[in-house]
Amino acid sequence: MSEKGGISVQTEHIFPIIKRWLYSDKEIFLREIVSNAADAETKLKHLVAVGQASGIEGDYRIDVKVNKDEKTITVEDNGIGMTEAEVKQYINQIALSGALDFIQKYENASADGIIGHFGLGFYSSFMVADQVEIDTKSYSDAPAVHWVCNEEGEFEMSDSDRQARGTKITLHVTEEEKEFLEGDKLKEILTKYCGFLSFPVFFTDECAAPEEVKEGEEPKAPTPINDVEPLWQKMPNECTDEEYDAFYHKVFWDNQDPLFHIHINADYPLNFKGILYFPRLGNEYRSLEGEVKLFYNRVFVSDNIKEVLPEYLLMLKGVLDCPELPLNVSRSYLQDSDYVKKISAHIVKKVCDKLAGLHNTDLEKYESFWDDIKIFVEYGCIKDKKFYDRMKDIVLFKTTEDKFVTLSEYKKLEGAVEGKIYYATDLTQQAVYVKLYKDQGIPVIVLDQLIDSQFINIIELNEQNTQFQRIDSVTDEIRKEDKEEDASSLSELFTEASGKKDLTVKETALKDGSVPAILNITEKSRRMNEMAQIYGMKDVHLPLEEILVLNTESPIVKKLATDKDSENAKAIAKQLYLLAVLNQRPFTAEELKTFLEGSYDILGKIQ
Ligand code: ADP
Repeated sequence: MSEKGGISVQTEHIFPIIKRWLYSDKEIFLREIVSNAADAETKLKHLVAVGQASGIEGDYRIDVKVNKDEKTITVEDNGIGMTEAEVKQYINQIALSGALDFIQKYENASADGIIGHFGLGFYSSFMVADQVEIDTKSYSDAPAVHWVCNEEGEFEMSDSDRQARGTKITLHVTEEEKEFLEGDKLKEILTKYCGFLSFPVFFTDECAAPEEVKEGEEPKAPTPINDVEPLWQKMPNECTDEEYDAFYHKVFWDNQDPLFHIHINADYPLNFKGILYFPRLGNEYRSLEGEVKLFYNRVFVSDNIKEVLPEYLLMLKGVLDCPELPLNVSRSYLQDSDYVKKISAHIVKKVCDKLAGLHNTDLEKYESFWDDIKIFVEYGCIKDKKFYDRMKDIVLFKTTEDKFVTLSEYKKLEGAVEGKIYYATDLTQQAVYVKLYKDQGIPVIVLDQLIDSQFINIIELNEQNTQFQRIDSVTDEIRKEDKEEDASSLSELFTEASGKKDLTVKETALKDGSVPAILNITEKSRRMNEMAQIYGMKDVHLPLEEILVLNTESPIVKKLATDKDSENAKAIAKQLYLLAVLNQRPFTAEELKTFLEGSYDILGKIQ
């Protein structure tokens, strides 16, 4: 047999298109050729399983070889093979499969990821080769066929002397693309795309020096470059924690163990599998950016598919195998796809289920990594109401006693005040107040992250009868009587001493007489300020409503009230004001200077 021809009329257009469109991503030729080989083996395996092929011997395998001297890359399988008629149908007449439509539709467009939709995968080999050969022998015992085609699309078919069942594709690599003849590079590409194919893939660099074998030792048996049973294909109950961790280390090159994993096995209609990991982020120098690798029936498609995760889960790392997505999926497709949105929603639900499961069954573990996940959970709650609803009962707060509680647990703590959640943001700065609350047995939680103030706004919006209140302000809990004097006879003295003309001075009786004065900043105005900071409005300084509250139970204040015209009154008032500031916020440089001078003066006087 011998036949010559051109790859049908339409392919004259197709060749330049292949070269033009796939220019930026040439390495995928290897994925296309090797996954065709794996398909050919899957097909034969299926025929054997349903009894339509018999006498099939030998283990399925795929061999990829590179020969720099001969400038060839070969991919050989022992799959189904092709008869002459099949080569004509599947290889020569590529234009049949809607390729004409393809040309008309896309020739002038700058679309990406089209090749695979139109069954042009095999022809992507012409991105790196100027001549491609096929030697194939069908499992059906038909004569073997040799096919060779040049870069103009002119092919020649003839008999082949191939004896073995299966197909060997030989690419004659162009001078321009000779980098693909480097063994290390080719192996890396092969491992990237085919590292989890279901048939063993062997790689040989025919020009590499043979491995040295020590005397008396057997040469090492070649090992496949792939893992034929990737973990995500197994059922979750068949996998151990060690296996999950090992898989993570191998795939993501991260030597730290992840915090936890989620194994997803979604049935129809979503139909995807995957494992997602929450990495340990402890070290602030580590990137927060995760990575999700997308596979199509175990063939690697793309790195970092951000589109499948909501932004608050972008630090997740993992693999997803989605046979529902096309192999050559494009970014724009992912962004617009309803299917991808459903995957994303499913992942969010699984993350919540996993966390709720851990909270209910292994609280100790959950608490142990709460600090690592807290920010993401809070951010998720702020961004996504559904996420908030799923998570709200398992969000933890740390009390000043270093104990974790949920919101409802806090409300039930001994000493908790109906409808109020008291919190501190800085245990050092607010130590005086922490003590005031502790003395009265009122539980206080610690909210020391910038995001917390936004998060508590969300809780207050969604939960009835829940008000967060920072402890460094005068609250009913620390007041002796339920009243506050709107004016103080010491007002004038303090406005003058503090140098702040618009300072409001009030009086109240606190339960604890040891604190003479408190600089009260309303919860509302402080939170507004924090919001401005979160949104990066550095130059916006919303006026903080500072009110100086004098404690009429304090002996110092009592004495000052009777002695306000004395020689030292102003110095005492100045110092009291600054002490109140000190308990509320860091000093400004000017305040620090004044405070130190005042302190030295006092020391000088009592000496
Ligand atoms: P696709 O794989 O998307 O169908 P390709 O252009 O890659 O498109 O391949 C076209 C067809 O050629 C395949 O569908 C298959 O029938 C046949 N083919 C390609 N490679 C092989 C192979 N190694 N063994 C058997 N058949 C093959």
